[in-house]
Amino acid sequence: MIASERKPIEEILGYLDGESKVLVVACDGCSAGCGVSDPEHAAETVKELEASGKSVTGTVRVEMTCNAGLTALMLSQHLAAVNAAASVLVLACGAGIQAVAAAVDRPVHPGTNSIYLGGFQGLWRSEPRCAECGNCMLDYTGGICPYTACSKSLLYGSCGGPKDGKCEVDEFVECGWVRIYQRLEALGRADRLKEMPPLRNFQKMLPVGDSRRSSLWALELTEPEKAEGED
Ligand code: SF4
Ligand code: SF4
Repeated sequence: MIASERKPIEEILGYLDGESKVLVVACDGCSAGCGVSDPEHAAETVKELEASGKSVTGTVRVEMTCNAGLTALMLSQHLAAVNAAASVLVLACGAGIQAVAAAVDRPVHPGTNSIYLGGFQGLWRSEPRCAECGNCMLDYTGGICPYTACSKSLLYGSCGGPKDGKCEVDEFVECGWVRIYQRLEALGRADRLKEMPPLRNFQKMLPVGDSRRSSLWALELTEPEKAEGED
């Protein structure tokens, strides 16, 4: 399971600035269990979008959005709603949002933040997709996660080392930031790279489980003993 929380509607509307028609994709898996994308909360989001003057071309529910094949199939069955939309708002975990981005030639906006729950990657298993950082920035990166696509998890651009589109750490891996640039350019949104995402709340990104089981982590959590006479 990947746990998700809803992004504030103000942040979502900021992503949709200048776009009047939007398709909503809502996951029936983990994020529905978190009360983010279940039918009731998805309908609430649609209502808020419409109250803000947006036209919602449809709501597509996908059983497990992180199943990239199933997501592509479901979207292909709603082509009219996809084509009528300027962009897609996804209520799903980070892996699900990326599965939608891989399936449509439209800008894809995250409606959620995935929060740390142990590194589970959902059903799109070929590679890690989401580090559950709690501050989803896929809107800025064309629906490709820099945490997982870049070998160094660089969040604000390339390290300057890629050669012929390959990562300097591993010549058999495509540079995540080259992929992000190519994707944004194909969407006509390369200018998005000039905008900085808001400051991140790193308290929402817990260390991986193994670190938390280490003795160092335990020591960090231990209250220092007070010397005699101290309050
Ligand atoms: S930015 Fe990446 S790690 Fe963070 S929630 Fe989005 S997909 Fe997950
Ligand atoms: S070459 Fe690209 S993917 Fe590799 S570490 Fe540098 S920016 Fe990241």
